[in-house]
Amino acid sequence: MKIINTIDSLRYELKLKREQKSLVSLVPTMGFLHDGHISLMKKAKEETDTLVVSIFVNPIQFGPNEDLDRYPRDLEGDVKKCLENGVDILFIPNISEIYPKNFQTVISVKEVSKGLCGDSRVGHFDGVATVVCKLFMMVLPDIAFFGKKDYQQLLLIEKMVEDLNIPIKVKGCEIVRELDGLAMSSRNRNLTPKGREIAPNLQKFMKMGVQLYSNGENRASIIISTIKKELENLDFKIDYLEIRDKNLKIVENLSQGDIMFAAVFLDNVRLIDNLEIF
Ligand code: AMP
Repeated sequence: MKIINTIDSLRYELKLKREQKSLVSLVPTMGFLHDGHISLMKKAKEETDTLVVSIFVNPIQFGPNEDLDRYPRDLEGDVKKCLENGVDILFIPNISEIYPKNFQTVISVKEVSKGLCGDSRVGHFDGVATVVCKLFMMVLPDIAFFGKKDYQQLLLIEKMVEDLNIPIKVKGCEIVRELDGLAMSSRNRNLTPKGREIAPNLQKFMKMGVQLYSNGENRASIIISTIKKELENLDFKIDYLEIRDKNLKIVENLSQGDIMFAAVFLDNVRLIDNLEIF
């Protein structure tokens, strides 16, 4: 595995790989790697020859009052996990490599950035689209892999690729969860022991919502208010809890394939999750 910090050496390495007709994949991450990230790497490794993983905590996707400073980091552990999971190139740029002085371009995917995380984290998706576009231009992978845990982000990247005619295939991968149902996230590390105990209830009550639907209730408002009540009793602060169709259109009467989206705060840690209605 090559660990690379600069765009020039990344391009040089990839040029060599392409000369060998190697199919290249990219898994962009912010590090503090867990089994969710590793599932993307495994998929990428199955489908391509050269796997590039990037680790970059992208400052421009964090708002002024968000957790950029508290975002967990463990470079040594991440390098070990990448080595163990067949990563060929680990790209760890520093901030000035990605955003040199006087950087001033923003990629904005207007409609997909509205609602859900786009409303509660103003500017977040512009930051995501900009950094992912830059990483795409640097690596030019054949396929890039993203998790469905960040469902809105996945749609945003797909739309960006379509609109900008970027010749990269984008693949979405299933959410990986802890045994107790909590969606894996680097941020879980910032939960207190008590918060960590309570956290799986998010998924538990989202599932209860799906059960209400199976039992014949199809009004989104009723299902949402029932779940909200349960979560608030457990000290979750709800950022949003909504049911939308797979293109993010708000639905009032549910049907199969719609998705329940949640963002909550627990111990000041923001957790997101989603669950398909089946
Ligand atoms: P992050 O490091 O949080 O920016 O995530 C990097 C990539 O891993 C994104 O495409 C995420 O959607 C994906 N990811 C994060 N957590 C999970 C998970 N629990 N299951 C599947 N994919 C995930």
